[in-house]
Amino acid sequence: MFIHSKLPNVGTTIFTEMSVLAQQYNAINLGQGFPDFGMNSQLISLVDKAMSNGNNQYVHMNGLPALREQLAEKVKKLYNNSINANDEITVTPGGTYAIYTAFTTLLNKGDEVIIFEPAYDSYSPNIEINGGIVIPVSLQYPAYSIDWDLVKQKISSKTKAIIINSPHNPTGALLSENDMRELSKLVEGTGIFIISDEVYEHLVFDDKKHISVLQFPELYKRSFVCFSFGKTYHCTGWKMGYCIAPPGLMKEFRKVHQFNCFTCNSPMQFALAEFLDQEKEYSELGKFIGSKRDYFSEAMKATPFKPLPSSGSYFQLYSYDGLSNETEKEFAVRLIKDYRVATIPVSAFYKDKQENKVLRFCFAKKEETLAEAAKRLLHVQ
Ligand code: GLN
Repeated sequence: MFIHSKLPNVGTTIFTEMSVLAQQYNAINLGQGFPDFGMNSQLISLVDKAMSNGNNQYVHMNGLPALREQLAEKVKKLYNNSINANDEITVTPGGTYAIYTAFTTLLNKGDEVIIFEPAYDSYSPNIEINGGIVIPVSLQYPAYSIDWDLVKQKISSKTKAIIINSPHNPTGALLSENDMRELSKLVEGTGIFIISDEVYEHLVFDDKKHISVLQFPELYKRSFVCFSFGKTYHCTGWKMGYCIAPPGLMKEFRKVHQFNCFTCNSPMQFALAEFLDQEKEYSELGKFIGSKRDYFSEAMKATPFKPLPSSGSYFQLYSYDGLSNETEKEFAVRLIKDYRVATIPVSAFYKDKQENKVLRFCFAKKEETLAEAAKRLLHVQ
């Protein structure tokens, strides 16, 4: 039997590849982005309660209404946008699914999508499987900022969408208000859509603020904004997220969603609906995760690695310039095998595998995990 592959150039995701190697070599896994500490036990009890109360059947395909109501309130409070819970929010099995569904909703054969590289590894295959063409624009190393003139040059009559991501995976860079204004200017009067990956919205450090496309009416009217409960509540394995978009866009999104996943698991939605008004859970998250970034960078000072700035997300890049001439992938594999620490080569986030001698470290870990990892990296050569 032969399958004419829809993704002939795609292998296994770098996260799985590195996690499998990490397990094989009993390495500390600072590669794939997930916390190694527990989640809130009250939220677990609420799932238990929902199940015991018999909330185990399908909820509405767009998501439990009570949860959507809570989300609409949160969006009003944080981003001053009065979205309608009925026709502007859909609960999804994770942020990645929300992004995929947005691309499937939008793209026809030959449509171009601008992505910023390094880019989260699902974007390109998501675009290509839907017949789209990826137009990469490099972020400016080492600040990983956007050169808007460069973006302007890449826009053509075929540009269907631009995908942005802030806080940014893998670099931890943030988009500023000025970036949003530049983006607004660029798309004003065009039919270009925006997909905004904001799954790390609450993981912002040093008293900086997350800027959402939801705050800019000119942008929101053309946007699918994707979020993740997993990142906010330390439960990436729940695979729960949601998408927010204006009614006309969301109507089409739901046509795709209803014949794919249809609806997400119910008990978690009941639990989240009850838990969502606990504001501290997300308002203090930046401080909590930011202190882990600081703890890790302090411990890493004694190693030969040099940090690049990280203002948000689970991640910080470290440079090994001057330490080795290996490619990022080769070096990352050797770190697992010889030093038993797993990371992610940033080259995996580029279509043409750009090499800057930087690795991505996930610091959303217990302090003892971070201390032990740094210790193992003390004498890397
Ligand atoms: N978002 C996670 C990361 O960047 C990985 C999720 C996955 O493995 N697909 O590490």
